[in-house]
Amino acid sequence: MGFSEILSQYDSLDMATYLAAVTPADVERVLAKHSLTPLDYLTLLSPAAEGMLEAMAQKANGISMRHFGKTIQLFTPLYLANFCTNQCVYCGFNTANRIPRSQLSADEVRKEGEAIAATGLKHLLILTGDAPSKSTVEYIGDCAKILGEYFPSVSIEVYALTQDEYAYLETCGVDGLTLFQETYNKTLYKELHPKGPKRNYDFRLDAPERGCQAGFRSVTIGALLGLEAVWQRDAFFTGLHAGYLQDNYPGTSIAISPPRMRPHVGSYEPASIVTDRNLVQYVLALRIFLHNVGITVSTRESASLRDNMMPLGVTKMSAGVTTAVGGHTAEDNGTAQFDISDPRSVEEMCRAIESKGFQPVFKDWQPF
Ligand code: SF4
Repeated sequence: MGFSEILSQYDSLDMATYLAAVTPADVERVLAKHSLTPLDYLTLLSPAAEGMLEAMAQKANGISMRHFGKTIQLFTPLYLANFCTNQCVYCGFNTANRIPRSQLSADEVRKEGEAIAATGLKHLLILTGDAPSKSTVEYIGDCAKILGEYFPSVSIEVYALTQDEYAYLETCGVDGLTLFQETYNKTLYKELHPKGPKRNYDFRLDAPERGCQAGFRSVTIGALLGLEAVWQRDAFFTGLHAGYLQDNYPGTSIAISPPRMRPHVGSYEPASIVTDRNLVQYVLALRIFLHNVGITVSTRESASLRDNMMPLGVTKMSAGVTTAVGGHTAEDNGTAQFDISDPRSVEEMCRAIESKGFQPVFKDWQPF
C-alpha cells in the first residue's frame, strides 16, 4: 500500500472533533505505552495533551537519550539560485514577487563552499527555487560535485524530481534529500499553489519515496505549519508519512523538520498561529511516536526556543544561516527567502550546544 492510500484511510476522520474529545486520561494511557498507534499519536497532538507537556517531555527525553545520546548535528543551507516558476503564496521567491533573481556560477559556488567549510561545518544543504530550465538537474549535480570537495555530506532541497534524476544526483555525490509537502490537505494545496509545476500534489507526495528508492542515505520531510487551520492535521500526516518511509525503507535515515511560517516578501497571512508550546508539543509527540526519526529545528525559530528544545528530541540544527543566494560571501545579502530568527554563527551554536551538556556533531559519515 502506497502512502497516498494510507492518507485516504483518514478521509472520513473529523480531526477537530477527535482532538476536542481527548481527555487527560487518554493522554496518560498513551504515555504509558511503549509503541503508539497513529491515533495514539494524534491523541498527543490534542489540546488536552498541551496541558501535559512536562510528562511528555520526560518520556521524549528518555527515548531521545536511548537513540541519539546528547548530540546535535550541525549543518547549513547554501542557496544556489532563487529563480522560480511557482506561485506558492507563502514564499518570498514566488515568481509573482518582483525581487532580484540570480544563480551562482561554478566559481561562486566554490567561493561559498570555501567560506562555509572554513567554519568547520561538514554537512551542507543546497537549495534552488523550482525553475528546471535554469537550475537544471545537471547544474545541481555539477554544484554537488564542486561542494563534495569540501563537504562529506551534500543534501538537496530542490524541486521534486523523478527517481532517475535522484539517482543521477546520487552519482554526483548527493547523499540526502529534503522535501516539504507543505500541506497534506489536497484541496488547500491547490489553493496555495495556483501556478507552476509544484501544483502537482501527487508527484510531490511521492517524491520522498522516490528519493529512498534512488538510494539516498537520508530523507527529510515536513509540512509548513500555519498553512492548515487545524495545525495538528499536517503534523499528524507528516508523522504518518515518516513512519511509512521508515517501515518501507529501513536502509534510509528518515527525518522530519517542523517549520513554522515566517515573515517573507508578499502578503500571505497564515491560517493558524502555531505557538511555541504547539511546536514543542509536536516535537515531543513525534519523538514518542517515532523513536528513532531525526528531528531538525531550523533558524526559523528563536535562539532561546532552539536551546530549550535540545533535550526534547531534536537531533539536527542549522547554524551560520543565510537564506539569500550567495549570502555566505556577498556583502549585500540580497533578498532572503524568509527572515530567520536565530542568526548565531557556527561557533556560537557550538557554545550554546555545549552549555546544555550536548555535543555538537559536524560529521557522522564518510562517502566511499
Ligand atoms: S516555496 Fe519553493 S517552489 Fe514555492 S515559490 Fe518558494 S522557492 Fe518557488
